[in-house]
Amino acid sequence: MAKPIVAIVGRPNVGKSTLFNRLTGGRVAIVEDQPGVTRDRLYRDANWLEREFTVVDTGGLDFGDRDNPFSAIIHKQAEAAMEEADVIMFMVDGRSGITADDEAVATILRKAKKPVFLVVNKIEDFSQKERYFDFYSLGLGDPIPISASHGMNTGDLLDAVVAALPENNGEEDDPDAIKIAVIGRPNVGKSSLVNAILGQERVIVSDIPGTTRDAIDTAFDRDGKRYILIDTAGMRRKGRIDEAVERYSVMRSLRAIDRSDVVLMVIDASQGVTEQDKKIAGYAHEAGKACVLVLNKWDLVPKDEKTMNRFDKVVRSEMGFLAYAPTIYVSALTKQRLPKILELVDFVAEQATRRISTSVLNELLADIQRVTPAPTDRGRRLKILFVTQTAVKPPTFVFFVNDEDLFHFSYRRHVENRFRETFGFEGVPMRFFIRQRE
Ligand code: GDP
Ligand code: GDP
Repeated sequence: MAKPIVAIVGRPNVGKSTLFNRLTGGRVAIVEDQPGVTRDRLYRDANWLEREFTVVDTGGLDFGDRDNPFSAIIHKQAEAAMEEADVIMFMVDGRSGITADDEAVATILRKAKKPVFLVVNKIEDFSQKERYFDFYSLGLGDPIPISASHGMNTGDLLDAVVAALPENNGEEDDPDAIKIAVIGRPNVGKSSLVNAILGQERVIVSDIPGTTRDAIDTAFDRDGKRYILIDTAGMRRKGRIDEAVERYSVMRSLRAIDRSDVVLMVIDASQGVTEQDKKIAGYAHEAGKACVLVLNKWDLVPKDEKTMNRFDKVVRSEMGFLAYAPTIYVSALTKQRLPKILELVDFVAEQATRRISTSVLNELLADIQRVTPAPTDRGRRLKILFVTQTAVKPPTFVFFVNDEDLFHFSYRRHVENRFRETFGFEGVPMRFFIRQRE
């Protein structure tokens, strides 16, 4: 099951990112402080009363149109939220009162078929009712006064939001099938690849199970193995959404990634790696999914025997955080190397479920510390006392150390590299958690 999505919509400076940080603060895994991973995080997991959900700050979404007037951008934010979120928080500023932009957004959101909460921020004194009663005129029900920066009434807001989340209907996808999310920016060839993969010999499309509202799912078999292809571009192919909407369907990609075991990150080799590619790939990394980088349209690239190596270097330098992901150069058009894609999918899916015994891990750890001890820091040296793997998908390790402040990034990277050399884990991110034990 994908986590439900709660979107925060509103004009700049009303306090969206303050609320976002308050709702999601302090839950960032170690793996995410790696250089190269975007820091301006727009979506993050949160939980309240045992419900998990993803919060999206639409204020930071890039609609690729910096030249457009602000009113057009906020319009798109609201539309994207209506299209893709499960619950919308519309935030206004109780100090400045209603503005024309607030009214414009309210006009759009009144048509939403999903729950909308009208959140009046910057209310530090709840007796000043006039500050938020005015917002009744937006026609979106009871205004909920909060102070995001002081954390006032945010618990009540979350109670209401969580109560409005869709029920977990228990409808699980086939648990034995490998779920593959095909993601990438528009026009890189996702639909063409999906069609080509499904059209391959030895692939038997078994049925079309109930499709979600974000993607077209197709179940298929190959050599007795079951797969589900989650195709985010399929919605457009089937005419259910238009291209303009697809262009900013960040939330749709997030949800597809969330439901997947393996992400096929499709890049147009004829155009190289773009900023948008990096952002989308960043989601897969942060979600802890196994990933294959598929460089499509290889037929369009003039090449000699060195071209592939050169491409690999560019991809590695542009997307260093995904250094563990294998690359494959294909053409949906000429069908070059297509069967190899599913072989790689099988391979990385298997890697993501590997479990290393505690004794083997600690033997390696002793060896690492003997050969390359951590550098000293102000006279103290990191000692890793014990490590154990606590989870798979992604492989997650807890390190018990003498002083967590001494476990610097460079040494973590060294340990990670040694783990990878020894155990593989190709195509999968690893998570490290550090606990201090004196
Ligand atoms: P965004 O542009 O909507 O993401 O807004 P920010 O979260 O960046 O906040 C804009 C400004 O409002 C910042 O200076 C915040 O410190 C301030 N702010 C946010 N929440 C509150 C609040 O609850 N009360 C007050 N007084 N100021 C707030
Ligand atoms: P999507 O938006 O990512 O689903 O991309 P499409 O599958 O709709 O493809 C976008 C365009 O690229 C279409 O015109 C395709 O015919 C073309 N295309 C897709 N794959 C390839 C390829 O491998 N080689 C070439 N030359 N063109 C391709």
